[in-house]
Amino acid sequence: MRRWMMGILLCVLASACEAQGQTKLSAKWEELTAADFHEAITRAQGTCLLPFGILEKHGPHLPLGTDLLNVRYVAEHAAQQEYAVIFPEYYFGQIAEARHEPGTMAYNGELQLRLLQATTDEMARNGCKKVIIVNGHGGNEHLLPYFAQTQLDTPHDYVLYVQWGHEIPKKEGAEKTGPDWHAGERETSDVLITHPNLVHVDRAKEESGGDQKRIRLPENVYTGIWWYGRFPNHYSGDGSTATKEHGEADLQNWVNTVVRAIKAVKADDESLKLQNEFYEKSRHPMDTSH
Ligand SMILES: [Zn+2]
Repeated sequence: MRRWMMGILLCVLASACEAQGQTKLSAKWEELTAADFHEAITRAQGTCLLPFGILEKHGPHLPLGTDLLNVRYVAEHAAQQEYAVIFPEYYFGQIAEARHEPGTMAYNGELQLRLLQATTDEMARNGCKKVIIVNGHGGNEHLLPYFAQTQLDTPHDYVLYVQWGHEIPKKEGAEKTGPDWHAGERETSDVLITHPNLVHVDRAKEESGGDQKRIRLPENVYTGIWWYGRFPNHYSGDGSTATKEHGEADLQNWVNTVVRAIKAVKADDESLKLQNEFYEKSRHPMDTSH
């Protein structure tokens, strides 16, 4: 009798757990079983996020993985609102300009493109027919649009989207204090929310994050050494004034922006159709009439 009752109890518990498991399907690729992965891709309508970080110095006071930690925080919070499958940690981007600092992992350009292509191809082979690269690292802002453009070289059965940038909360007098681009007040404030135990605000003044303006060129002339010329400490801004309130406001904007992106991508039926039309026409351009 006891054993029988125990059996029923276990059954009830098991089905309750199973039901809970179904409602709490993880968004993280690495946490899903193979069977749950199948369900996750269906629930996500084939939409997957590739949060893109980097390993680089972040002033004297923030962790090397700041961009990766923050962008994953944002992707996870966005996927809670609008479900999408999230690819594991990815940090194989463009960061040549920080090679003089300890802890920087700077893969060469060719490898960056090949690895990213192999990754998104493999994601697509596993049902991610809409891949959104959510960029958390400023140094990728030329790489990623270029990568997206190279998708037109050969036919793909999936669409690649790149998302970066969000509205930055405005601050009085910000224009007088100079750029706040890297490990400064905004980014430090973000880490105070995402990983407060990794921030050393007391060290933020140990180095200067000021613009050293060592190269004088017109705005429309680009050179790769520009960042080193302006911010040789790999620090831009002042992290000592960071606050949790600022971080909360900034992250909220960022999460909302990614949620909007996921919704828009799910609703986008045109891109794949146009890609296919384009690939087909590009096989015989001389027959294409205008
Ligand atoms: Zn950063």
